[in-house]
Amino acid sequence: MTVDILHLARKNIQKLEPYQSARRIGGKGEVWLNANESPTPISFFSNIKSFNRYPEFQPKKLIQLYSKYVNISEDQILITRGADEGIELLMKSFCEPGKDAIIYCPPTYDMYGINAKIFGIEIKEILMLKNSWKIDISNIISNLDKVKLIYICNPNNPTGNLIHSKDLLILLKATLGRAILVIDEAYIEFSSKNSMVNFLKEYSNLIILRTLSKAFSLAGIRCGFVLASKEIINILHKVISPYPISSLIADIACQALHDNAILDMKNRVNQININRSYLVNELKKIIFIEKIFKSHANYILVKLFHFEKVFWSLWHKGIILRNQNHKINLKRCLRISVGSDVECLRLINELKRVSKKNIL
Ligand SMILES: *Cc1c(COP(=O)(O)O)cnc(C)c1O
Repeated sequence: MTVDILHLARKNIQKLEPYQSARRIGGKGEVWLNANESPTPISFFSNIKSFNRYPEFQPKKLIQLYSKYVNISEDQILITRGADEGIELLMKSFCEPGKDAIIYCPPTYDMYGINAKIFGIEIKEILMLKNSWKIDISNIISNLDKVKLIYICNPNNPTGNLIHSKDLLILLKATLGRAILVIDEAYIEFSSKNSMVNFLKEYSNLIILRTLSKAFSLAGIRCGFVLASKEIINILHKVISPYPISSLIADIACQALHDNAILDMKNRVNQININRSYLVNELKKIIFIEKIFKSHANYILVKLFHFEKVFWSLWHKGIILRNQNHKINLKRCLRISVGSDVECLRLINELKRVSKKNIL
């Protein structure tokens, strides 16, 4: 017997449109350029063989290694199941549903809005200035009423631009004692000198989100970090689940943070940045590409003439890009993750073929 269960779910969950992750969208891909993953798999080996005991609440060794990598003290770091858990945990810890609000600046990463909808937290969307993708500082500052958290993604996904630290500092000053500025640095390794991590000492209302999913080639293990003042980390300790990080994950993450592994990561990042320049140069030659937005991360946002035809034509050839056409201010845009040499070449060849075939 089937009975309607949906009506038992909370009202906001009944209405909720879930995040369309690359894996959920699917596709028959040979060249996956839609999730900003690293194209380079890294092999790991673990000596951990028994699992009858719970892992450490916050694996000490991993905290030590990340502390060394970012050069902040160990009590300013929380390990999470990816940056996604960090995004959620902050709302859980700081926002009263039905009372408090968050701000974010579209077009940007969807999970800020989706989590707020799940919790029933009011959303204030303050659009980025179109095409320059600068944050609208004065508009943010004049909308701080009820706001506890402001999420800014830097470099921004999907536009690829950096947010000027000058602007972020204005926000930090304007919100001190009133709200917290959360900088999502998921892609900061591709532009590492632009991290705000050195300002953690000065600003107790700054939180930085990090991940091993992108530059570190470890999207599969789900490991991220929240960097913040000791006081904020202590609050998050109350809320995060009792054993968030499995012992295997901690072991692999530790290996990825040893000196040599970090050097390897930096070399991969350099290679991706070289491939990005190559792609930009080649994309400039393709007639149906109307605009290429300057990127400081491992993806490029482009605007196309004949968007639908190009996107689906590549899709059917197994080259899977990320559609951004439905997002505010991103009509006819798609996001291309920077892949390996071979993947970049396949993409460019296919784009050239589409433009020659006169199917447009
Ligand atoms: C990929 C991504 C995340 C999620 O990172 P995980 O650590 O894999 O959860 C968070 N923020 C942005 C902007 C991202 O692009």
